[in-house]
Amino acid sequence: MTDPILLSARNVKKYYPIKKKGKSVLVKAVDDISLDIIKGETFGVVGESGCGKSTLGKVLLRLEELTHGIVHYAGENLINLSKPGLKGFRKKAQIIYQDPFSALNPKKKIGAAIEEPLIIHGMGNRAFRREKVLELMDKVGLRPEHRDRYPHEFSGGQRQRIIIARALAVGPEFILADEPVSALDVSIQAQVINLLKDLKQDEDLTFLFISHDLSVVEHICDRLAVMYLGRIVETGPVEDFFKTPFHPYSRALIDAVPVTDPSIALHHTILEGDVPSPINPPLGCHFHPRCIFRQDLCKGTMPKLRDLSPDRQVACHFPLA
Ligand code: ADP
Ligand code: MG
Repeated sequence: MTDPILLSARNVKKYYPIKKKGKSVLVKAVDDISLDIIKGETFGVVGESGCGKSTLGKVLLRLEELTHGIVHYAGENLINLSKPGLKGFRKKAQIIYQDPFSALNPKKKIGAAIEEPLIIHGMGNRAFRREKVLELMDKVGLRPEHRDRYPHEFSGGQRQRIIIARALAVGPEFILADEPVSALDVSIQAQVINLLKDLKQDEDLTFLFISHDLSVVEHICDRLAVMYLGRIVETGPVEDFFKTPFHPYSRALIDAVPVTDPSIALHHTILEGDVPSPINPPLGCHFHPRCIFRQDLCKGTMPKLRDLSPDRQVACHFPLA
């Protein structure tokens, strides 16, 4: 039996038309991405800043209209959803962003902030909602007396707990977490990651987890996709990926993770330079100008994403390992 697919994307593109020096050009933020997210898994998307991770998250949840392609959620084409259908989908699929402070109204007590989605979705009377808010606060490690405090009275980690409680309020099944711990101190990151892990078990959740930080992804994700300039360059189970990355970009990202044990030898594939502009990406393999393994073929021919084993794909003419 194959695992049930909760979200599937086929050939998804998101091009932003912008003006540059008076000319109309397209920013190819997401360029021809296909992926399947299996019910119950945490699917990671990694890559440097500007690779298109957030845009991918937005189009998969129809927070932005896509330029091309199809997204199915639980077998339903998201493009075809009516207004009530979309509201129902919004209840099932919640979002946690990087910056909890800007996501909270500074004038609203946090009890009211957590209650808000329950009111929007018409769930329960006042007494029910009051109980529910306390239950949610307990779930994320906040104390009852926190209910009547304002966002500025909390630390960054606690504020992200408030956001998580609010996301859970309506009983979602899918959560898009876009850099959910990137704004937090490293010591706090692990606590919030562990909370998300526990909640995933307890609440039967599926996650799309976006991060530029590979060590975070290694801790929480089951499978991942590596993005480079709007495209997926590698996918696979997290454990196999970290053991034997196939794409030189993946290798470079892994090598860039600070190692706490100095006796571990570093591979010398330091990633130099920035991600090129998605307006005018390099010909052939987008990564070739930064790739220390490039050959002539890479300069003229774009490699397709292909299966290297049943559960691993790579877009590289000369995969490693
Ligand atoms: P990431 O989340 O990986 O850092 P983003 O998805 O935010 O990447 O951005 C991908 C690319 O799309 C970037 O070059 C960014 O400047 C561009 N981009 C994102 N949103 C817009 C927009 N609304 N209009 C024009 N360009 C955009
Ligand atoms: Mg982003």
